[in-house]
Amino acid sequence: MSLGLQDRRDVEFLVRDVLGTEQLFKLPMYAEHSWETFDLVLDSAYKFAHEQVLPTMVVSDREGVKLENGQVVTPPIFKKLYKAWREGGWIAVTETEELGGTGLPRAMTIHPVAALVGANIAFFTMPGLCHGAGEMIEAAGNAAQKALYVPKLFGGEWGGTMCLTEPSAGSDVGAARTTATKQPDGTWHIKGEKIFITWGDQDLTKNIVYPVLARVEGDPNGTGGLTLFLVNKYMVDAKGNLGERNGVHCTGIEHKLGIHGSPTCTIAFGEDAPAVGEMIGEQRGGMKVMFKMMNTARIAVGLQALSLAEAAYRYAHQYAIDRVQGSAVENFKDANAPRIAIIKHPDVRRMLLDMRSTVEGLRALLGFCAYQHDLSKAETGEAAVNADELAQLLTPLCKGYASEVGFDAVSTSITVLGGHGFLRDHPLEQYLRDTVIARLYEGTTGIQAMDLVGRKLGRRGGLSMMDLLGRMDKTINQAREVGLADLADRVSAMRAKLGETAMGLGGAAMSGDLHGPLLSATPFMFLMGDAVLSWLHLWMATTAITSATQGDFEKNKVRTARHYITQAEGRVRARASAIKAGDRSALEMAFEGE
Ligand SMILES: Cc1cc2nc3c(=O)[nH]c(=O)nc-3n(C[C@H](O)[C@H](O)[C@H](O)COP(=O)(O)OP(=O)(O)OC[C@H]3O[C@@H](n4cnc5c(N)ncnc54)[C@H](O)[C@@H]3O)c2cc1C
Repeated sequence: MSLGLQDRRDVEFLVRDVLGTEQLFKLPMYAEHSWETFDLVLDSAYKFAHEQVLPTMVVSDREGVKLENGQVVTPPIFKKLYKAWREGGWIAVTETEELGGTGLPRAMTIHPVAALVGANIAFFTMPGLCHGAGEMIEAAGNAAQKALYVPKLFGGEWGGTMCLTEPSAGSDVGAARTTATKQPDGTWHIKGEKIFITWGDQDLTKNIVYPVLARVEGDPNGTGGLTLFLVNKYMVDAKGNLGERNGVHCTGIEHKLGIHGSPTCTIAFGEDAPAVGEMIGEQRGGMKVMFKMMNTARIAVGLQALSLAEAAYRYAHQYAIDRVQGSAVENFKDANAPRIAIIKHPDVRRMLLDMRSTVEGLRALLGFCAYQHDLSKAETGEAAVNADELAQLLTPLCKGYASEVGFDAVSTSITVLGGHGFLRDHPLEQYLRDTVIARLYEGTTGIQAMDLVGRKLGRRGGLSMMDLLGRMDKTINQAREVGLADLADRVSAMRAKLGETAMGLGGAAMSGDLHGPLLSATPFMFLMGDAVLSWLHLWMATTAITSATQGDFEKNKVRTARHYITQAEGRVRARASAIKAGDRSALEMAFEGE
């Protein structure tokens, strides 16, 4: 028996029964679509992930990437896979049909994408960046830029990148030193060094597009002075014909913990020859464009953590069925008692349900957020604004919280296998190494937490937070009506702690305490994540218990919710209590040598 990469039944239950995304088909933007398209996309994603992507996962990790004569060489197995990925139309699967996508809402397409990510995350970052760069140009480019770049990036003919980070500009993007100088012909010369550029060079596409953040001479320091430019590996004419090599080169690649198949490059712009680029968007408007893209990019990183956590859970689940070790606890004195599969041991069952409840909770969080994103596009007026704001409030959880608890789930999967989990004979050590990056890029966990506490909680006078708390109340009431009062009480207690703690942090900030709320930002993000996942589990359990059929699936949804909510309540209370205590020891410490 193979459990595969994703629980299709759970995906369908979430999308159809819980979130009720069918509502979107009633809005003009999605009126052309139906469940049939969704089913087809899921079918082909699973087939493609299993038959073509999965066989490359371990090979590409072992081979890694090389830099030979200034050219990055990727694992040879990627050539065939990239061709198939392009031909399958997977790069722009989340886009409209005019842009080469399925036109389906993201609340649906994130699931087939997650299955592909789980099959080889290192490779996925390549088409992911083609899509990201294309999406950015579609959002911020002029008509000529859109016409030239978007089809080439969404079709995968050219590769995409994102060039923000520099040696002295990591989390502090505004410290970038790369410069842009205007030329008499209207083009720009970009000069500087970007580091950690994912797929900054590769041998899969003829050309590579570099969206680069740089500062025009005289523009102010900080993020407000940054402008976005497009630089190509080769000079490109208006029709997209490639000419001479541009002055942009890969000068090094990183040797790193995970995602070995994904090259992480140092890129020199204008070192020996000018790096010619064109401006995209407005001068000093670079961060505005980046901010627009950030929600999608951060949700995509959360999806990476979910995908690997689910793949790891499913592997551990299968292993626990197959591995025979020890006897049933009631026979522990009998050396001749039959040996049993480890899935029968209470502690192994606990670990499996810890992982599973995290995975199903994260799926619901990312699905709910994607649904709000769809509503923000398909609705109009206040409904669109409210949906967008709610998605923005939850985005730090989708990235920061999901990448941390997703990693923990992968780590637990190794314990399920015992010493065998530590070996390369199983994919879990690779999943563990590959998941770490989700906590770091697109802004570290700490940066996500600061975004949540410093920017998102107080937006619109806390209206989105009130919206979220109101939705929690609605589910709590519904759960009480269907006989889940015990769980409703626990979620209600967490909802109260969430509201109180958010108010407390807001109050501290208003009274001029800048350090206290930042010291508590990450613990608060965990508190909020646990409370939100508990709400989503309660919502899923309420839906399951009122379903027309009451089989193992529905009963397991209630059990999963009960397990998660019971564990989470204690964590939420403990975090709320620690935050309220206001301990400032970390601020007061005299660290040696600081
Ligand atoms: C494999 C890989 C791929 C990447 N791909 C890309 C890419 O394609 N394009 C790109 O532009 N970048 C990329 N990055 C860069 C990535 O986004 C940065 O590494 C990340 O944003 C953190 O920056 P840093 O490494 O300089 O860490 P630092 O900014 O030095 O942070 C170090 C620590 O300090 C904390 N910290 C920093 N500032 C603050 C603050 N003000 N308050 C509280 N805590 C703070 C951080 O949370 C972190 O824990 C990639 C990185 C890696 C490792």
